[in-house]
Amino acid sequence: MTENTSWHARAAALAIDGRAFINGERVPARSGQTFDNLSPIDGRLLGQVARCDTADVDAAVLAARAAFDDRRWAGKSPAQRKRILIKFADLVQQNGPELALLETLDMGKPIKYSQSVDVGATANCLRWYGEAIDKVYDEIAPTPANSLALITREPVGVVAAIVPWNYPMIMAAWKIAPALAAGNSVILKPSEKSPLTALRLADIALEAGVPAGVFNVLPGYGNEAGAALALHMDVDCIGFTGSTRTGKLIVQMAGQSNLKRAWTELGGKSANIVCADCPDLDKAVAAAVGSIFFNQGESCNAPSRLFVEESIKQEFLAKALAMLPRFQPGDPLDEATVMGAIVDATQMNTVMGYIAAGKNEGAQLLGGGEAVRAETGGYYVQPTIFGVEAGMTIAREEIFGPVLSVLGFTDIADAIQQANATPYGLQAAVWTSDITKAIQTARALRAGTVHVNQYDGDDITVPFGGYKQSGNGRDKSLHALDKYTELKTTWIQV
Ligand code: NAD
Repeated sequence: MTENTSWHARAAALAIDGRAFINGERVPARSGQTFDNLSPIDGRLLGQVARCDTADVDAAVLAARAAFDDRRWAGKSPAQRKRILIKFADLVQQNGPELALLETLDMGKPIKYSQSVDVGATANCLRWYGEAIDKVYDEIAPTPANSLALITREPVGVVAAIVPWNYPMIMAAWKIAPALAAGNSVILKPSEKSPLTALRLADIALEAGVPAGVFNVLPGYGNEAGAALALHMDVDCIGFTGSTRTGKLIVQMAGQSNLKRAWTELGGKSANIVCADCPDLDKAVAAAVGSIFFNQGESCNAPSRLFVEESIKQEFLAKALAMLPRFQPGDPLDEATVMGAIVDATQMNTVMGYIAAGKNEGAQLLGGGEAVRAETGGYYVQPTIFGVEAGMTIAREEIFGPVLSVLGFTDIADAIQQANATPYGLQAAVWTSDITKAIQTARALRAGTVHVNQYDGDDITVPFGGYKQSGNGRDKSLHALDKYTELKTTWIQV
């Protein structure tokens, strides 16, 4: 049996449990309603998933609040929470093949990356915050001698985490690991497009020793379960990752309800600037192409705007186009596949709509541009490269698919001006051998992360988040603990 048939066989034998997870138990939605969970690989029905709404949100918030108030989790010492989070991480790794398979079936990404990237990063994130939490100290303020002022961190209480479908487990882990480490109760709402691994994470957390009520998972639609969480008067904080459009609604709902803390991690249209003095053109080409097509282009930080200095643009493009065959979409359950399926028909139509807009507006289609593998019943788009002009729709809007828009520039000031001419500010990159130019450009780029002579800088130790309409929060690193803790000052007369 080849590896390929083995994953298909495992997929056929997989039991799908789409029930919600509330107060330590798998339960159907209170309404009894479900929705179809289809695989983008072949359009097959994977199973029915609980369609949670306000009644389920109320039940989960009640359970989460009770767990917080009786301090069954917040009252544990950091060292105790650490042990449980590390066990949680270990169990994620032990269940890695099943989680990877669910991620691929649900979301369409290649099994090779579900295993090596998604499972690994999820376990690493849980382990890292577990390891960190008993090494975080509080402070004593330099107040006058007859007083003592303690500055301590306390968990905010009930945290709602609403996450997108592109990295379902990793996006969940980036919220739940720091929130749980800090002692909060958490209610996670995964995307309706890819809810399965979040539900399994809840089973695994319980097995690891996270007490009932502390971690709840509510699958459902954004305008039902998601909005009910954002509007709930007893949710203290919301950690949201998703589109800028929904992020604006989340902030509004937080404001019109109880002014819950609302942290947003939103869309992007990241600029990748390659100067003529780039130290290694082949590396720059491989990074530009590999990063935009990774995860089918469905990455918030994908370098979807490529700026190449005019004098090297033709050479650069020739090398980039030569790489396209490597990224042709294939069967996501085949270990050799590097580009899989687009998450669903709606998203594929969006991507194809952008490709049509590019053609209509006169962008130069250099490679790709077609939907393929229709015979599978799934959703696949070729890796696509357009030569564009600033102002064209595909040069401005987030496509969230395998489409690269290439522009030229005359000097670095021109490149910086064009790169910053966007409402987004998630990531950016500059490739140059000139250290002064690199540092000046990195400073001038309005983005939460800037890469120099690479695009793959990524580690749990560093913050991830955006400027401008890419959001106001930072996931990862010790800074993420700030989002899920309150600062308390305690004055003591001495
Ligand atoms: P989306 O905004 O459509 O949905 C995200 C989540 O919000 C889903 O769980 C959805 O059900 C929920 N939701 C939708 N409408 C809602 C509402 N009215 N009230 C409450 N919840 C609601 O985004 P998506 O299509 O799932 O994800 C793609 C977007 O996410 C892209 O824009 C991408 O750039 C962004 N993203 C950002 C980051 C980051 O770290 N900045 C990471 C990954 C993805």
